[in-house]
Amino acid sequence: MSKVFDLLREKDDKILRSGSAFRVYFSDVAMMTSIDRIAQIYHQPLPDLLFEAQKTHRQHHDPRAIQLCTLGNIKTGACPEDCGYCSQSVHHQTELQPEPLMKIDEVVAEAKMAKAAGSTRFCMGAAWREVRDGAAFDRVLEMVRQVAALDLEVCCTLGMLKPHQAKQLKEAGLTAYNHNLDTSPSYYSKVITTRTYQDRLETIRTVSEAGISVCCGGILGMGESTQDRLDFLAALSGLDPVPESIPINCLIPIVGTPLENAPPVDPIDLVRVIATTRILFPRSMVRLTAGRTQMSDELQALCFMAGANSIFTGSVLLTAPNPERSHDEALLDRLGMVPKPL
Ligand code: SAM
Ligand code: SF4
Repeated sequence: MSKVFDLLREKDDKILRSGSAFRVYFSDVAMMTSIDRIAQIYHQPLPDLLFEAQKTHRQHHDPRAIQLCTLGNIKTGACPEDCGYCSQSVHHQTELQPEPLMKIDEVVAEAKMAKAAGSTRFCMGAAWREVRDGAAFDRVLEMVRQVAALDLEVCCTLGMLKPHQAKQLKEAGLTAYNHNLDTSPSYYSKVITTRTYQDRLETIRTVSEAGISVCCGGILGMGESTQDRLDFLAALSGLDPVPESIPINCLIPIVGTPLENAPPVDPIDLVRVIATTRILFPRSMVRLTAGRTQMSDELQALCFMAGANSIFTGSVLLTAPNPERSHDEALLDRLGMVPKPL
C-alpha cells in the first residue's frame, strides 16, 4: 500500500514543486491531486497510518528526541485583528489585561531561563496585526540579536511583514518566522474577517524570500470539518518551500471569544492529523503546541508515536495555561524520551 502512496507522492511532488506557492496554490489540478492523496493517507486504518508515520519519522529524526521550545508573549492584547480564537483581540471581551512591548532585558532574562530549563528555541509573539517601522520594531530587532547571541534558535511571530522588515530580521539573526494559516482557505473567513488567506500567504512568501525559515501551522477544534483539515494540509504542502516547522494547536477555548464553547477535538482525529502531517512533511519539525493541558499523558505519547517531535514548555503559552515543566520532564522520562539537543 505504501508503494502506491510513494508513487502518488512522487507525482504530486513534481506538480507541487513546479512553480511558486501562488501558482501551485491556485492550480486546481495540483490541489485536487494533493487533496486526494492526503485523504488517502488520513483515512487509512489507524495501525497502517501510525506505521507509515513511524517509518517516515525514523528515516529523518531521532524517534526519542523532542525539541523543547519556549514562547514568550512580548506584547500582550489590544490587537486590531478579529481572530475568533484569540484572547488578545480588541473585538472580544476577554479578561486579558493588555501590556505594552516588553523591555529588552526582561525578554533576554526569559530566554536565558528557558535555555537553562532545556529549551533550544525561543519564540517571541506580539499581538500586532503587522510590523510597523519605528522604535518598537527596532526594539524587537535588538531582542532578536541578543537572544540569537545566547545560542538559541530564535523565532518571532509579529503579524504581517514587508520585505525590508524580513530582511532586517534576517540580518539580526532570526532563525524562523511563525505565521500560521490556521485552517482551510474556505473556513478561514468564518474565523477571521480582518485579513485574508492571501495576506497570510504573501507574508509567508516574504519570509521565505528573505531566507528565513518558515514556521506555519494551524488550529484544530474551531468547528472545521475533516475536509477543512485536509485542505489546510494541502495548503501547507502547496507552499514552496514547505514549512520547516509545523505547529499543530488544539483550540484553547477562551471565555469572551466567539469560540468559547467550541467542543474539544476528538483525540484520535488529532493523532490522525499529526501522523498525516509527519508523512507529508518528513523533514519538518511537527510541534504539538496549544491545548496540551487538556490532553492526557497517553494522548501526548500517541502524538509522539505519530511523529510529533516538539513541545512548548513553561506554565503559560501566550496567554493560556500550559503543562508545568516538571510534568513534561516526568512524562518524557516515563516514555524513555529525551530533550533534543541543538
Ligand atoms: N499576532 C500574530 C499572528 O497572529 O500571527 C502572532 C501571535 S498569535 C497569538 C500566534 C498563534 O497562536 C496564532 O496564529 C494561533 O494559531 C495561535 N493561537 C492563538 N490563540 C489560540 C488559542 N486560543 N488556541 C489555540 N491556538 C491559539
Ligand atoms: Fe492578533 Fe495574532 Fe491574536 Fe489574531 S492571533 S487577534 S493577529 S494576536
